[in-house]
This record gives sequence, structure tokens and C-alpha cells, in this order.
Amino acid sequence: MPFKIIVYDNFFPYDDSECDVLGVRESYEDAVAYCKSIVDENLTGYYKDGISTDELYDHYKSFGEDPSIHPIPDGEELFSAWNYAKERCSEICKENTKSSTLKMKFVKHSLSGLKENPRLAKKADQAVKNHIEQLNKSIDADEAYDKKHKINKYREPEGPMKKLPQPSTLLLKAAQFSALKHRDQRRKDIESSPYINHPITVAHIIADIGGIEDPEILAAALLHDTIEDTKTKPSELEEMFGETIRRYVEEMTDDKALTKEIRKQKQIEHAPHLSVGATLIKLGDKISNVSDITQSPPVDWDIERRTQYLDWAEAVINNCQKVNTALEQHFSEVLSNGRKRIKNES
Ligand code: ZN
Repeated sequence: MPFKIIVYDNFFPYDDSECDVLGVRESYEDAVAYCKSIVDENLTGYYKDGISTDELYDHYKSFGEDPSIHPIPDGEELFSAWNYAKERCSEICKENTKSSTLKMKFVKHSLSGLKENPRLAKKADQAVKNHIEQLNKSIDADEAYDKKHKINKYREPEGPMKKLPQPSTLLLKAAQFSALKHRDQRRKDIESSPYINHPITVAHIIADIGGIEDPEILAAALLHDTIEDTKTKPSELEEMFGETIRRYVEEMTDDKALTKEIRKQKQIEHAPHLSVGATLIKLGDKISNVSDITQSPPVDWDIERRTQYLDWAEAVINNCQKVNTALEQHFSEVLSNGRKRIKNES
């Protein structure tokens, strides 16, 4: 079975089709070795004398590439670059006595030697086995964290929710759930702002500018990136928040198995078929993203890339049903202000 190696853009992890397919490998082992080489190159590049493990890991989380592995034609993500990087950060900091250039050479050398050198290949095999073991451990750790913070079980003893809690309780519960799920993610702006700011902003825009009071739409806005962006499963959302919210979030979820270009095109094509609730969330999402892109852009996005993003966001929103004049007008304003801002910069 072939495996596709994908790198998502950290500024919109999974959310807005910002991903690149780096290559395809015939075996899982080859794919893991390739992913590790990418992470290692990043880490050795960022390593400076005196940097601590945590600083190195934080820097990687903010600016590094995080490749993941996906079986073709489709399937769950199989490799956690961040877990691997975390492990490597402490190793690199502990043993790093050579310069980062030497390290880079070493990594490249070991990789090119993998195929011809059976000893290295055996070592790599062991590394893959260790990695899978480590990955399982980290999944267990994740589950333990969820358990400790009681985010996997709804308080109602009967399992699937039959009745919604009070609106304020539902919203706080959704905010807490989302914050825990996005806890390790940062955006790519200069301040590396916490990712959770984004879904909170989306929900706030819909309520404040759109005048929307429907608690299920607002809760879904808080949760809209959890399936694509974290390990949250649709069934988990349904169990905790009911069917309607699970559906809205699924409507906001792109198919991760597709390439960046196809995903972008699909968002435009699917826009007219979104439910009213999902259309409102889509409006809030694009308003939030367009203002972020123009006011505090990702550090490595040049003017052309920002302009392309604005054009694409406009195409998606133009294709949506018209559901809320205030939000639609606000989107147009944010878009034209953003274009002016970009024009002034160029
Ligand atoms: Zn989003």
C-alpha cells in the first residue's frame, strides 16, 4: 500500500487546504524515515548552542514543518511529527556538541546510506519500531490527559445526549473541549498566538456581528476545527454535543486525503450546499482568517500568497447561500480593507 506524505501549513492546520504533498513512498517504513528526515532537518537547522529542549520544541511547533503520513487512497493520519520532534528535541539538546551544519550532513548522509547499507537499514527498522511504540505511548498519554480532564465523557450517565444543556453551559463546555483539543497548537504569526483564539473569534463574530443566538451554531463555531485539526472523532462530538453540532462541524471539515489544490477547489464547489448554520460558521471563519492574514500575517507568507488567499476566500464566500446581510457586508469590508493594506505594503 502506498503512503502519501503531507505537510500542512501551521497557520491553518488542516483547516483551509493549506497543505503540500511532499511525496509518495511505497512502504510505511520509507514514509516514516522520510518524515523523520524532514523533522530532523528542521530541528538541526533551528538548534543553536545554549538553546533548551523546550525552546527548541516551541520554535519547531511555531515555525517547523510537520509532515504526516496518509495511506492512499485514504485513511487516518499515521505519523505524529510533533511527538517525534518532542522526543528529538531533548536528544538533540542533550548530545549536541557538533555544529548544526555537521548534524545536517550526518542526517543527510544516514538517509542516503539507508538503501545501500544493510546495517543502517536495520538500525532504521529498529528506529521505526521504537517510534511506533513511542507513538502508542503518546496516544495512551493523550487518552489519560482527556480522562483526567474529563473531556471524553459527558456528565449525563445515559451516554448519547438526548437533551441539550442550558445555552451558557453548552457554550462553556464547547469552549473548554476545544481549548483542550487545540492545546498544543500555535498559529504562524509573529507572536505564535495560541490556536484557540481563532475558533473563539469565529464564534464571537457570528454572535456579535451576525446577531446569531442559536447555541448549537455558536458551539459548533467553537468546535469547527476539532475534527480536521486534532484527533477528535465525529462520534465523540456527537456523544458530547449531539447530532446537529456534529453535523455542522463535519460540514466544516475538509477531506485530508486530498491534495491542497483539490481541497481548495472543493471548498468553492461545496459552498452552495452548506446548511445555513455551516454557512454562518464559514462566514465567521473567512472573516477571521482574512483579517489575520492581512493584520498579523504568517511570517513566511509573501504578498502574492496573501493575495491568493484573499481571492480564494472571496470565491468561497461568493458561492455560499446569502444568509446574513451583516456578516456578508462585514466580510466585504474586511476583504477590501485587507486588499488596501496589502497594496500599501507592496
Ligand atoms: Zn477555522
